[in-house]
Amino acid sequence: MIQPTRRDDVLLADIAAHGGPGDNTRLHIWWLGQSGFLVKHDGHVFLFDPYLSDSLTEKYAGTANPHIRMTARCVDPALLPRPRVITASHIHTDHLDPGTLRPLAESHPGVRLALPAAILEEARARLAGAPIQFHPLHHGIHMRGRGWQLIPVPAAHEDLKTDAQGRHHYLGYILRAGPFTLYHSGDTLWHDGLLPALCTLGAYRCHVMLLPINGRKPERGVAGNLNGTEAAALARACSAHIVIPCHYEMFTFNTEPPDEFAAACGRLGQAHALPTCGGRVSMTAEPA
Ligand SMILES: [Zn+2]
Repeated sequence: MIQPTRRDDVLLADIAAHGGPGDNTRLHIWWLGQSGFLVKHDGHVFLFDPYLSDSLTEKYAGTANPHIRMTARCVDPALLPRPRVITASHIHTDHLDPGTLRPLAESHPGVRLALPAAILEEARARLAGAPIQFHPLHHGIHMRGRGWQLIPVPAAHEDLKTDAQGRHHYLGYILRAGPFTLYHSGDTLWHDGLLPALCTLGAYRCHVMLLPINGRKPERGVAGNLNGTEAAALARACSAHIVIPCHYEMFTFNTEPPDEFAAACGRLGQAHALPTCGGRVSMTAEPA
């Protein structure tokens, strides 16, 4: 089992010590495992797709597809600071986890969950009774708070699935917080509309991209996400200041060493950081 770089009280103390009110020229990012990130800026906490339970290990125990954890949980979600918003990029449990969201909401009643409008009813049923405010989003509908904005971007988790009203089941999110722009892609392939959408919605030259790397290996039949080479190339195409990979080292059946990603970044001259679970990446805004 991989042990997080920081966990429990040590991780919580690191989160508390960085990005408080007034710390507005730096952005702090902690990897929580899988596609989960805690982002902090100027006292605002944002949680992207946290998976901090054993929901899937328990669900698939004794089946032909066991979800064996590779990395120990870094923190009890009930102890995290109150987020301005939590995102769920899509309905899959490693991105919208009742075992994480229920205890989080019980600690922070009324906490806001941004999610694709197309999955609202399914999410409501999964989280029935939890004190969560649902904020259904779709392309063109943004969410705003004081000093921040969350902008959905259509994603293709194998395909650009939509509901009868044309609303996407899979989303990524652009977060604008103070001078920073961050893109969390959710689970996605590099579909034809992705780069135009990112450029139109303001993610060109973004500060940080958080991208999956466990995708499409024809020989293994694993698909649905960017692979390491594609993730590096997408970041380069967007002129991202830095790219951080995710969606690996959570389950033994669905992981990928970050080597291909790191090598591709090297070839392309794309700055990147390799996260460790519970590790922090801090960046400073460049002067205008
Ligand atoms: Zn996933």
